[in-house]
Amino acid sequence: MAGTTGQCMCGAVRFTLAEPPVRFGACHCEMCRRWTGSAFMDFDVPATGVTWQGEAQIRALQSSEKAERTWCGRCGSTLYYRVRGGPHDGAYSISVGLLDDASDLDFEREIFVDTMTGCFAYAGDRPRLTESELKG
Ligand SMILES: [Zn+2]
Ligand SMILES: [Zn+2]
Repeated sequence: MAGTTGQCMCGAVRFTLAEPPVRFGACHCEMCRRWTGSAFMDFDVPATGVTWQGEAQIRALQSSEKAERTWCGRCGSTLYYRVRGGPHDGAYSISVGLLDDASDLDFEREIFVDTMTGCFAYAGDRPRLTESELKG
C-alpha cells in the first residue's frame, strides 16, 4: 500500500493524506506538458483529504477558468492542480512524484492522448482518452 506522506524536492512543502491513494493517471495536455516538462502524473484527493505544511511556499497560477496549477516557490517542484469553482471546487490532483512511497499504485488511465508527444508513450494497457472522448 502506498504511503500517506509526501514532499517537494527541497522539503519546504510537505503533506499528509487522510487516505493512501490507490491509483493515478497521466495528463498529456499542452498545459500540463509545459508545466511539468513531460506529462502530469497525478492522483485525486478531495478538498478535505490533505493537510499541507509549508503552505507559505506554495505558488499558484490561475492557469484556466476552472483551475490553478501550483509549485514550490523555493525549489520549483510541481505540486498540484486544483479545481476552482463548480461542484468539485477545491479538489486536488497531486503530483504522484511527491509521494514518499508510490510503489504499488495502479496506473489507471491517460488523458489528452491526442496532444501527447509520441516519445512520452508509456508501456502497459489502460484506457487512453482523447480530449473529445473526455468531454463527450
Ligand atoms: Zn520545494
Ligand atoms: Zn493536463
